Amino acid sequence: MGEEKAVIARMAALLKSGATMLNELCPACKVPLFRLKTGEVICPSCGQRFVIVSSDEEEIRARAALTLRNLEATVIEKIEFLRRRVAEAESLDELIDSGRALATFLQVLEQARRVRVGGQASPS
Ligand SMILES: [Zn+2]
Repeated sequence: MGEEKAVIARMAALLKSGATMLNELCPACKVPLFRLKTGEVICPSCGQRFVIVSSDEEEIRARAALTLRNLEATVIEKIEFLRRRVAEAESLDELIDSGRALATFLQVLEQARRVRVGGQASPS
């Protein structure tokens, strides 16, 4: 299969970049997960990121970072949606509504970033 070949090529590239192959498998793809040099764990097949940690505290920190990153991605999508609404607004009310929502999402984004960056211990 071409797909399988592509996955093997990606695994080889990961190893070459210094990533480590783990014993854990991706539950969806049944292929070994890889730990990148950055500490992130990804599936070479579907690209899904995973949280694999040893202690409870580490797990909480890793989950928080992942959640905040996902939140940022969601908020950015909403900001893009609202940006289009502002551009296409046909009434002042619509413009004001979208503008207010935009301001709220920008605040959420800023706070999420601040919490995520502030929550990181020391970069290893
Ligand atoms: Zn996968």
